[in-house]
Amino acid sequence: MSEPQSNIIRTQAYIGGVWTDAASGKRFPVYDPASNDHIADVADLDLDEVRHAIAVAQGAQKSWQAVPAKTRAALLKDLYALLKEHREELAELVTRECGKPIREALGEIDYGASFIEWFAEEAKRVYGELIPTPAADRRILVVHQPVGVCGLITPWNFPNAMITRKIGPALAAGCTVVLKPADETPLSALAIAALAEKAGFPPGVINVVTSSNAPSVGAEFCRNPTVRKISFTGSTAVGRILMRDSAEHIKKLSLELGGNAPFIVFDDANLDKAVAAAIASKYRNTGQTCVCTNRFLVQDGIYDAFASKLSEAVGQLNVGHGLDGTTEQGPIINTRSLRKVQSHIDDAVQKGARVLTGGKPHALGGTFYEPTVLADVNTHMSITREETFGPVAPLFRFTTEEEAIAMANDTEFGLASYLFTENIHRIWRVSEALEYGMVGINEGIISTEVAPFGGIKASGLGREGSHHGIKDYTEIKYLCMGGLEESN
Ligand code: NAP
Repeated sequence: MSEPQSNIIRTQAYIGGVWTDAASGKRFPVYDPASNDHIADVADLDLDEVRHAIAVAQGAQKSWQAVPAKTRAALLKDLYALLKEHREELAELVTRECGKPIREALGEIDYGASFIEWFAEEAKRVYGELIPTPAADRRILVVHQPVGVCGLITPWNFPNAMITRKIGPALAAGCTVVLKPADETPLSALAIAALAEKAGFPPGVINVVTSSNAPSVGAEFCRNPTVRKISFTGSTAVGRILMRDSAEHIKKLSLELGGNAPFIVFDDANLDKAVAAAIASKYRNTGQTCVCTNRFLVQDGIYDAFASKLSEAVGQLNVGHGLDGTTEQGPIINTRSLRKVQSHIDDAVQKGARVLTGGKPHALGGTFYEPTVLADVNTHMSITREETFGPVAPLFRFTTEEEAIAMANDTEFGLASYLFTENIHRIWRVSEALEYGMVGINEGIISTEVAPFGGIKASGLGREGSHHGIKDYTEIKYLCMGGLEESN
């Protein structure tokens, strides 16, 4: 893939409507994590080029925000249609770059496109307010205006959807963007830019800066006063850096960070539904999503049955290259992540956990790992506090509802949580007690463009998707119109 084979596969950065190499001529490699094949070399921009992209975005800001919402919506709808038209090609790119099974990659393209469609619709509904006046000679109005240039930083685990979740609302609200995708997965980002170009977005509205030096791009986004907002999806550690570094200019921040999702199974749960949802929630993208379950909390009475059904189903998951249509589990993204998975298992086993299935690197080699279930896990093990980001299901045991809630909330994170019970009273009690931005009730997959996605505590700030998502890209302005003649 080092030579472009299709008009959406690009290896140059995209700035001001121009496909551009780094002035230095530098490029960085992109590999297929399943085969370790070298698939492309992408322009490796230096800081001056990133600054240039920010200036170009600023140059386009005024005219873009002046474009009527209906026209911005029409451009987004055209982009949506192009994403759907190139669905297979985009999905293959996702699988090649991040290793996820092709079926999941197709799902990601549909999911990613849904944000462009949704925010095309929302673009026309950024309504203001007319507030009842306390003084007869005044009128009080509220308008929402675009924040301005947005610096976007996205991770490798959803190379398409994490981008559309940001550019959809940003463009709909009238903001221009400079996007830095993860260096593992720049091709999916550049493919979206190629389709946006085809859709007819004006030059400078969407810019993609590819770089192997994420910390310096992040620092520039934070310190450059032209960037008015940063929207970041990735680890809590990097989120903290961005929050600290953007303090000087008091930037608007959206942070979609790490999680430590509990999945609580009560004795009165429907066992088959809970097991099916557990597989979906835990093993999607080989356990590498921020909303993947990190801890299964299972009540005494159902513990053994759940453990045995889950480990039997997990033992049958088909591991392989994502482009093989029968694959259910792809590779782990890199050896550093593989080592973390192994260290969590080793630590747990050393402290008394039992391996019910898996527990070691897969015979396929590379970064393939056996889907794993651990029983008798307790809160002294590192898997309790840290996000594993891999195909490991640790089963903790609890006795009472209060104990389950306390265990679930005993973490700095607060992104997704799940609970399984057939008791309606318990559903409300536990849902309200969980300190999380999202609660799946008898459901393991809860993401959709129509609902607000996001976390509390160390899982972040702001929401993506839903009618709330667009407001994060606007500023509220209050207009006070005074000196009006009072009506008789
Ligand atoms: P990461 O290391 O934080 O990387 C995410 C992005 O940040 C990448 O583009 C990366 O660039 C960039 N980056 C790295 N260091 C940076 C720095 N100092 N300043 C600015 N940018 C920097 O995260 P990851 O390990 O790849 O992704 C997994 C994490 O993302 C997990 O914690 C997961 O839970 C979280 N996540 C959260 C959500 C959500 O919606 N809440 C969704 C998906 C993932 P390079 O790749 O080029 O280094």
